[in-house]
Amino acid sequence: MAFFVDDQADALWKLHHADPDHEMYLSFLQGPINDFLTREVAPRAAANDAEEVFDVDLFRTLGELGFMALSFPAEYGGAEACFSFYNAGLESLAKADAGFALGVGIHGTMAEGISRYGSEALRNKYVNDLISGKLLGAFALSEAGSGSDAKSMKTSWRRDPETGGYLLDGTKYWITNGMSADLFFVMARGEDGRISAFVVEKGWKGTFETNKIQDKMGVRSSNTAELIFEDYHVPADCLVGEEGRGFNYAMHMLNSGRITIASWSVGIATGALEKLLKYAHEREMFGKLLKDLDNVKRECAEMAVEIAASRGLAYDAAFFKTQGRDIIKKAAMAKFKASEVAVRVSERAIQLAGGYGYVQDSRIERHLRDALLARIGEGANEVLSCVVIPRSLYKEFERQGPPPLW
Ligand SMILES: Cc1cc2nc3c(=O)[nH]c(=O)nc-3n(C[C@H](O)[C@H](O)[C@H](O)COP(=O)(O)OP(=O)(O)OC[C@H]3O[C@@H](n4cnc5c(N)ncnc54)[C@H](O)[C@@H]3O)c2cc1C
Repeated sequence: MAFFVDDQADALWKLHHADPDHEMYLSFLQGPINDFLTREVAPRAAANDAEEVFDVDLFRTLGELGFMALSFPAEYGGAEACFSFYNAGLESLAKADAGFALGVGIHGTMAEGISRYGSEALRNKYVNDLISGKLLGAFALSEAGSGSDAKSMKTSWRRDPETGGYLLDGTKYWITNGMSADLFFVMARGEDGRISAFVVEKGWKGTFETNKIQDKMGVRSSNTAELIFEDYHVPADCLVGEEGRGFNYAMHMLNSGRITIASWSVGIATGALEKLLKYAHEREMFGKLLKDLDNVKRECAEMAVEIAASRGLAYDAAFFKTQGRDIIKKAAMAKFKASEVAVRVSERAIQLAGGYGYVQDSRIERHLRDALLARIGEGANEVLSCVVIPRSLYKEFERQGPPPLW
């Protein structure tokens, strides 16, 4: 079954029919990426899930294909496609292997952070290598004691009087790609309490250790790590942007990341539905096929509607992002909806496939384990629904005032 589904192509066509380049990006997604997913990614997904392996070689090959460069500026080797094309690719990647796709997605968020906020020297040094897959990136905001309340982080920086650079101390936790990354986007608190961002490589003076976080429930084909810094020397030119602005950069990066996680979730849900459809066309009971039961028809229809709605929200947010407009509400809404749909669709797909859905052999149960992360990461859904979305909603309403109609 093709990874890039007709619904994606239709939605992209509607969004981009005025863009003369869109055919080129569509054929790239329908051709090279689909072939790569079918031949290289999907067949390894179950083994990498079982063995908790993030496949770095596969990541490098994806980079060589041009996947990560899709929406980046041409001056760094990017294709300058609208962000929604990258989203469509990530959706398909997540359908094939959501753990692997998570590593790729967070790498993309990190690369975009350097591209948007880094100095010209940092951009020239790193962005091309990141988007061509020569370097793997990680985004290090969370700590064991501060996830949703990221501002209360303890990791600190202070000036190194000898070199004029910085010294990092502290421990980051839950860092995707942490075991394999070449480059880390690290947030740390200064003595004045303000948070700054640094680009960090391994092998500099001081201690920088990584420990693998084992036995995750899902996204097992991504790797997740603890990062420990002790008197770790960071050169002065590795500060990202301005001192004290790192938390703002991280929040903007998370907004983009939410659009990515929305498409990632749509990929998971689509995978679960397609596997259910396949099984429902084969499984016989009471002299008919599972697909012909009324409740199966209704539930499959509801799943398809929810998936299409989630994809629409993700593309809508991606389109706003490409236009440089405010994406806070749209990104949060897309991530909230798509992640809830991914969990619901995966759970119902297991139920409707019965005992078969409950065992690893069906490859359906992995989708539920993976989908549950989408509710937690890039802003837990409770934070989005209780804080981020209502705050934007009220702000908009209060700025505009009640519509004259009422
Ligand atoms: C597999 C995995 C990969 C990850 N990758 C990365 C990464 O690459 N980089 C990185 O920096 N971080 C990463 N994270 C961390 C992730 O962003 C955090 O887990 C997430 O922000 C939630 O933080 P927490 O786990 O500390 O939960 P807590 O902050 O302790 O929250 C627990 C629960 O409390 C509820 N809650 C929290 N705040 C509110 C609120 N304001 N209103 C209502 N309810 C609330 C929510 O239900 C939430 O799930 C990853 C996590 C996992 C599990």
